[in-house]
Amino acid sequence: MSVPQTTIAVVYDYDQTLSPTYMQDEVLFPAYGIDPGSFWKKCQTLVRQDGWESELAYLKTLLDYLQMDPPTNRELEKLGANLGFYQGLPEMFGELEETLSPAHRGIGIRLEHYIVSSGMKALIDGSRLRPFIKEVFGCEFATDSEGRISFPKRVISHTQKTQYLFRINKGLLDLSQDVNDHMPADMRPVPFSNMIYLGDGPTDVPCFTIMKQYGGHAIAVYNNEDKSRNSFRKCYQLAAHANRVKHIAPSDFRAGSHLRLILEEMIVETADRILRNRRDEIEDSRVSAPGHT
Ligand SMILES: [Mg+2]
Repeated sequence: MSVPQTTIAVVYDYDQTLSPTYMQDEVLFPAYGIDPGSFWKKCQTLVRQDGWESELAYLKTLLDYLQMDPPTNRELEKLGANLGFYQGLPEMFGELEETLSPAHRGIGIRLEHYIVSSGMKALIDGSRLRPFIKEVFGCEFATDSEGRISFPKRVISHTQKTQYLFRINKGLLDLSQDVNDHMPADMRPVPFSNMIYLGDGPTDVPCFTIMKQYGGHAIAVYNNEDKSRNSFRKCYQLAAHANRVKHIAPSDFRAGSHLRLILEEMIVETADRILRNRRDEIEDSRVSAPGHT
C-alpha cells in the first residue's frame, strides 16, 4: 500500500517572513493600549532573570496585561483582519496556481500552503491570508467559561516548529493525533522532497535543518528596506557561513521578483519530478502486468 504523493506543500514562518512587523506590535498592542517597549521588556526579564521560555513569557505577559478584561479568541481573530503583509501578498497564492501545467494537474498534483508560527494562531486565522492557507499552526489560548482567553493551550517555540513539518509530512493535521506514530515513507502524503520552507532567520534554523536533512527545499527571505541591514545579514550568515540554506531573496512576493522566480522554479521542478516518476510507475506496471503484451 502507498499513497499518491502528489501534493507540494509550501510552508511559511509568519513574522518577518510574510510580514515586515511582529503581529503583536502591529494589531494587538494598539487595540489594547499596550506600550510595546515595556511589554517586550517584561518578557525579556522573565526569560533572562527567571529562565522562562520566550514564547511562554509573551503569552503570560499578555494575559497579565489583559487580566482585567480578557478578550475572546473571536475578538483576537477580528484584530487579525488588520494584519499587513509584504508586497505581493495575498495575490501570490492565486498566481502560483498557474505554475502547474495541465499535465501536472492531470495526475493530481496540487499546491498546499501552511503557516507555522510562534505567534498567535487567532490573529493569523483572522487575517486576509487565511483563505489561501490549508492549516495555520501557532500559539493558542484556552478560554474560561465565558469564552475569554485564560491560559496557554498550545505553545510553539522555534524548536517545536519542526514537529509541524512532520505533521504536514505525515498528514496528521488533527492535533489530537500523535505525530510520533510510525508511518512508512510511502504512506506519508507530503514527502519532504515535495516541501518548500520559507523563513527569515535564526528562529527558522531547526526547520531549515530538517529540510536539508530530509531532502526538502528552503528559502531564507530578508527585508531589503531594513536600512540597518540586520535582516539581510541574518540570511547572509545562514547561507554563507552556517550552510543552512542555499537560497536567499528579498521578501517581495510579487510576480517576477527574485523570490517568486526561485519559488516557482522549485515548484515546477518538484511537479516535473512527480510527473516523471508517475509516468515511470505506469510504464513499469504495464511491462510487469501479466497477460498483457
Ligand atoms: Mg520569523
